[in-house]
Amino acid sequence: MARRQLIAGNWKMNQTKGDAVAFAKAVAERLAGRPIAADLLVCPPAPFIDAMAEAAKGSALAVGGQDCHAAKSGAHTGDVAAPMLKDLGATYVIVGHSERRADHGESSADVRAKAAAAHAAGLIAVICIGETEAERDAGKTLEVVEGQFNGSLPDGATPANTVIAYEPVWAIGTGRTPTLPEVEEVHAAIRARAAKVLGADAASRLLILYGGSMKPSNAKELLALPDVDGGLIGGASLKVDDYWAIVTSSPAAQ
Ligand code: PEP
Repeated sequence: MARRQLIAGNWKMNQTKGDAVAFAKAVAERLAGRPIAADLLVCPPAPFIDAMAEAAKGSALAVGGQDCHAAKSGAHTGDVAAPMLKDLGATYVIVGHSERRADHGESSADVRAKAAAAHAAGLIAVICIGETEAERDAGKTLEVVEGQFNGSLPDGATPANTVIAYEPVWAIGTGRTPTLPEVEEVHAAIRARAAKVLGADAASRLLILYGGSMKPSNAKELLALPDVDGGLIGGASLKVDDYWAIVTSSPAAQ
């Protein structure tokens, strides 16, 4: 089953509004010169979504949030609700990033509620799962990842409203990556788990991204793996040249 790859950037708490606008314009310009058969997404800090979405309008670059609250509104100082992201022009939202799980104590049940809120708002939820280094060293990678998948996937999840991002925690921002067979093993296990939960047809259409130190020098081999359907990219998505180099490394661009 041919799946359309998704090359997604996660800017975390970096950049300025001006950077976001310039980035969107530059990507739109490059896409006009070279259409790519993949979906492109960047998730800037929430205050820049509006301006970035406006600058990306008319291009194939989508804009997303990095987190959302599980509630639609209410007394939650500092939080952002999924309908607010949608209102700003976001079409995706990342939920369950390991930095949120670690820094904010988010459990898979919390992530599941956030993904459900994203779906209710009409957003595609990018659900992040991945093992720590200690869990990998203890041989628990598949157990941890499958447990997070089961616990984080809300009712009503489909390949149209949900993307999974496998991000080994120890590979995020470290320059280290699992070997290619290790990446493929986990992605294939996630797809097998998805087949049990969502059915074989849905699992064959579900996008499973790899994230963790993806960069121009390793993107081509990672994106060519059979069960890798794109990337979730942190550091290397901050510079348009690096992001574009990853986009053009996708099999969709060959
Ligand atoms: C991420 O933040 O999701 C990520 C994968 O970061 P980096 O690419 O910098 O490792």
